[in-house]
Amino acid sequence: MLTLALSKGRIFDDTLPLLARAGISVVEDPETTRKLILQSNRPDLRVVLVRASDVPTYVRYGGADLGVAGLDVLLEADATLGGDGLYRPVDLGIARCRLSVATPQGFDYAHAVRQGARLRVATKYVHLAREHFAAKGVHVDLVKLYGSMELAPLIGLADAIVDLVSSGGTLKANGLIEVEAIMDISARLIVNQAAFKTKTATLKPLVDNLRAAAASNVSIPA
Ligand code: ATP
Ligand code: MG
Repeated sequence: MLTLALSKGRIFDDTLPLLARAGISVVEDPETTRKLILQSNRPDLRVVLVRASDVPTYVRYGGADLGVAGLDVLLEADATLGGDGLYRPVDLGIARCRLSVATPQGFDYAHAVRQGARLRVATKYVHLAREHFAAKGVHVDLVKLYGSMELAPLIGLADAIVDLVSSGGTLKANGLIEVEAIMDISARLIVNQAAFKTKTATLKPLVDNLRAAAASNVSIPA
């Protein structure tokens, strides 16, 4: 039995077409069922639904043999779990966005950076944010939040946020502007290393099929 870890929403929705190209369909719809284990059309493959940030944990500890996780989640998990135990064989090219710094429209970020000001930055991605600002030599106090980061500068909780941006619509709606792109993000296939050795006969073809499906999926808009 192979277990694939996915999160509901964007990751699940964007992974389905790739699975379809690999001949796999998921029997239930995560938006309507309350089940957390979904059967597929293949008796030897099931999908487990977990929080996006828990996907690397499930795969790392063998609760799932493979999973799909955003690079943001994956790199942030590396900082706490360590990068060992996970293969990342395929950039699936789905759930594309970027990790960026955003500030209120009136805030002169470049000036603050030049002045060596100490910035208060709210983010869910404290490790990635710390690395980014350390590399730039910017002093920051990081405030960890779990969501609605856009609110923090509006309320005076932070000068800036580090968050995912795709269209920029959410930032704009909250009077924020993207002042610096940190990195491009897309979802990655991740595989438990031990499982890849013990279940090679079933796992390797699946990984190869998903790689081929992702490669022929280049037309998906960012
Ligand atoms: P949770 O709901 O558990 O807090 P989440 O909000 O991170 O998790 P999603 O919003 O489904 O869950 O995001 C899952 C992944 O999709 C992210 O880790 C990121 O890689 C990608 N993603 C997030 N926001 C966007 C976006 N606006 N455009 C494209 N991809 C995105
Ligand atoms: Mg989200």
